[in-house]
Amino acid sequence: MSRRILFLGPQGSGKGTQAVRLSVLLGVPHISTGDMLRQAVADGTELGRRAEAIMAEGELVPDDLVVAMVAERLAADDARCGFLLDGFPRTEAQARALDVAVDTRVTGDDEEGAAVDVVVLLEVDHDELMRRLLQRARDQGRSDDTAESIERRLSIYWEETAPLAGYYPAHGVTVARIDGMGTIDEVFARIAMALSEEPS
Ligand code: AMP
Repeated sequence: MSRRILFLGPQGSGKGTQAVRLSVLLGVPHISTGDMLRQAVADGTELGRRAEAIMAEGELVPDDLVVAMVAERLAADDARCGFLLDGFPRTEAQARALDVAVDTRVTGDDEEGAAVDVVVLLEVDHDELMRRLLQRARDQGRSDDTAESIERRLSIYWEETAPLAGYYPAHGVTVARIDGMGTIDEVFARIAMALSEEPS
């Protein structure tokens, strides 16, 4: 099974839940930039101070800050045999930077090549996304989950991130489109099935 996996999908598509589960199954680290940034804010680091207001408004943290954070994380020993990226890349610039960072780490040169083996794209319809996100905002009190910022983040997803579903096939990487409607178990079974069909 492929071990360098990227999860794509809008907020509320179940990416985080499925990514954690799959990372346990595969024994590779789950790398969520949203979680890392929230931790940086909680720790009051320089990065956290710069990201906090941007996150509260539902905007994207600048590429250079996020790319540096991820490159450092991917250089850790536990990411050598694979990783599961969740919430990164979110722009084409980030995708290009990721390809360069991973290639440099593995081969020692900066030739072009894709950093991931497969992309899992979770698809959920808009009404269901809004329902899940508003419910999560109520349950968890996530400070970045107001109705306004949810709408803003979904529109940023469609403008900036969704086009990555075209970027990866153009770089020779399969995008597995997964129906994200249904229970967590049903969706996980679809993901596992799709990945088992990928060459490792
Ligand atoms: P998430 O938990 O993935 O929805 O991320 C929460 C917030 O963190 C986002 O709304 C952005 O403000 C910021 N963020 C997370 N990942 C990225 C990224 N790859 N690029 C820019 N901003 C990000």
